[in-house]
Amino acid sequence: MSHETLTLSTTEPVARKDYTCEVCNGAIRRGVRHVVCTGIYEGDFHSSRLHSNCHQDCLDYASHMDYGESYTFEAVREWVQDGSR
Ligand SMILES: [Zn+2]
Repeated sequence: MSHETLTLSTTEPVARKDYTCEVCNGAIRRGVRHVVCTGIYEGDFHSSRLHSNCHQDCLDYASHMDYGESYTFEAVREWVQDGSR
């Protein structure tokens, strides 16, 4: 329960400066369209910036899990790197 994540909105803005992707820790360059997930994470209001393809990895990962199970970006990253997708 303490790790419950509630996503409130997902938007796809164009980066106005360089950001870091929270899934792969890679750079999101200025001018690149990416995904911003805004929600409640562990009780705090939080925004996460992700590459569009990394966001897709999150969705793919979530679809392989039991509904209601929480997940972290680290788990998604490990899952992608394992090649188990
Ligand atoms: Zn990424």
